[in-house]
Amino acid sequence: MRFVRYTTRNDPTPRWGWVYQDQVGPLEGSPFDEFRRLEADLPLASVRLLAPLTPGKIICVGRNYIEHAKEHNAEIPEVPLLFIKPVSSVIGHEQPILIPPQSQQVEHEAELAVIIGQAARRVEPPEALSYVFGYTIANDVTARDLQRRDGQWTRSKSFDTFCPLGPWIETDFDPADALITCHVNGQMRQMASTHDMVFKVEQLIAFVSSIMTLEQGDILLTGTPAGVSPLRQGDVVEINIQGLGALRNPVATDTHKV
Ligand code: MG
Repeated sequence: MRFVRYTTRNDPTPRWGWVYQDQVGPLEGSPFDEFRRLEADLPLASVRLLAPLTPGKIICVGRNYIEHAKEHNAEIPEVPLLFIKPVSSVIGHEQPILIPPQSQQVEHEAELAVIIGQAARRVEPPEALSYVFGYTIANDVTARDLQRRDGQWTRSKSFDTFCPLGPWIETDFDPADALITCHVNGQMRQMASTHDMVFKVEQLIAFVSSIMTLEQGDILLTGTPAGVSPLRQGDVVEINIQGLGALRNPVATDTHKV
């Protein structure tokens, strides 16, 4: 099933919904608990989609595709390389990514996002996928110049708008071998299969849960394939994952002076 968060022209209050073909219907309750689906009678194109959830933790994996590590002359990690993005960086489908004044090199990173459904602590890989609620698309937007300069990645990964998520949560998805592409202004920049991940989704969940308790609503960004490239004001970046739809965001400049 596909779950969305949305507002309508007549009602600015965010609410949960479900998608049937190209229609949206409201949901009573929450997809994580008890819920009831009401009639899907609104055209999807008529509603404003928000980020499909407000995550708890956003845990990210660096260099999880060999070809991407190579393009930065970086080693393939022997264990997953983790970092965290703040929830304040989250935006939804069609909301603008803002290039901050501190960076001259903001880049897209197309990634599969895993949404945790129930608390997971020290789970083993064979059982790990049973803790997943669903999947969505993420863009791990990165200020590459600041990432290189700082060594630590927190500043470069954490600007407001640097975590587009969406367009919806898909509960019926197999993460083993799905095609990921990223286009900027219609030109393809990234293409790979989730099959090319160094550490698979179940290994990542097991690894992270050996460090910290994963809780309902936490998300895991699983790394990006090769082909990351700079974004400029006026660009439109679109990430497709086979089975999950398309996450599209325009790019604008944050004109605030620092
Ligand atoms: Mg990334």
